[in-house]
Amino acid sequence: MIYFIGAGPGAVNLITVKGKELLETADIIIYAGSLVNPKLLKYAKTGCVIMDSAKMTLEEVIAAMVPAAQQGKIVVRLHTGDPSLYGAYREQMDLLRSYDLEFDVIPGVSSFCAAAACLNTEYTLPNISQSVIITRMEGRTPVPSKQKISDYAAHNATMVIFLSSGMLDKLQKELIKGGYDPKTPAAIVYKATWPDEKVIRCTVDTLADSSAKHKITKTALIVVGNFLGNEYDRSELYNPAFTHGYREADHSKFNIRPEVK
Ligand code: SAH
Repeated sequence: MIYFIGAGPGAVNLITVKGKELLETADIIIYAGSLVNPKLLKYAKTGCVIMDSAKMTLEEVIAAMVPAAQQGKIVVRLHTGDPSLYGAYREQMDLLRSYDLEFDVIPGVSSFCAAAACLNTEYTLPNISQSVIITRMEGRTPVPSKQKISDYAAHNATMVIFLSSGMLDKLQKELIKGGYDPKTPAAIVYKATWPDEKVIRCTVDTLADSSAKHKITKTALIVVGNFLGNEYDRSELYNPAFTHGYREADHSKFNIRPEVK
């Protein structure tokens, strides 16, 4: 059996319980050494074969997985964050299917969730943003022509930009060209939940300067949008004046604003 497991954003205790339990049973662990915290490997049992996929090709990863799985061994493929985002695991699953091998996917805490936690913020605020756009700048990996940063920027929604911290000059120009006010709040979250985590708050027009000042060129997320500001409407779900399936409205308390101390 082969398990694709999300390792979480960095902190060792942010892997899921299921992910950790499977790591403990694995005969082979192939982990993405560029971003997965190697301290997670302490959960490997004695005799477990450990391989770092940072130096391997897709073909080499599959060549390591297939014979082991065919012999009934437990193979763990450990991806950073959640495998479903920029994890390149679809191509692995498709090749494993061609060998008639079974696999299962155990989700992980993506770095974009960790970044919101580091910022003590919520991506979706009533009347500010009800959508989160997860995207990246075009680099050596092309981006389809209708999915450019400037197209998305036009929505003024929350944006979380992966794999782009080395191109912030270009990124900030694209964001502004697309329609963000240059003074829209933004943040750079470097190595969220790792011991050397850094959180830098800035504005769209100071993204490049801020990253240069803090010498950040990789392992960072860029988040952009007015969700980083202080204006928003309170939720309807917890509004005393709002009736829903679990609670009747109390109209004597119509639309009060929560007290912020
Ligand atoms: N599957 C991963 C993303 C892999 S792509 C996930 O769900 O998080 C690698 C990119 O993710 C990095 O270039 C960086 O943009 C981002 N990233 C991964 N871990 C991060 C972390 N701990 N802090 C900030 N960004 C991170």
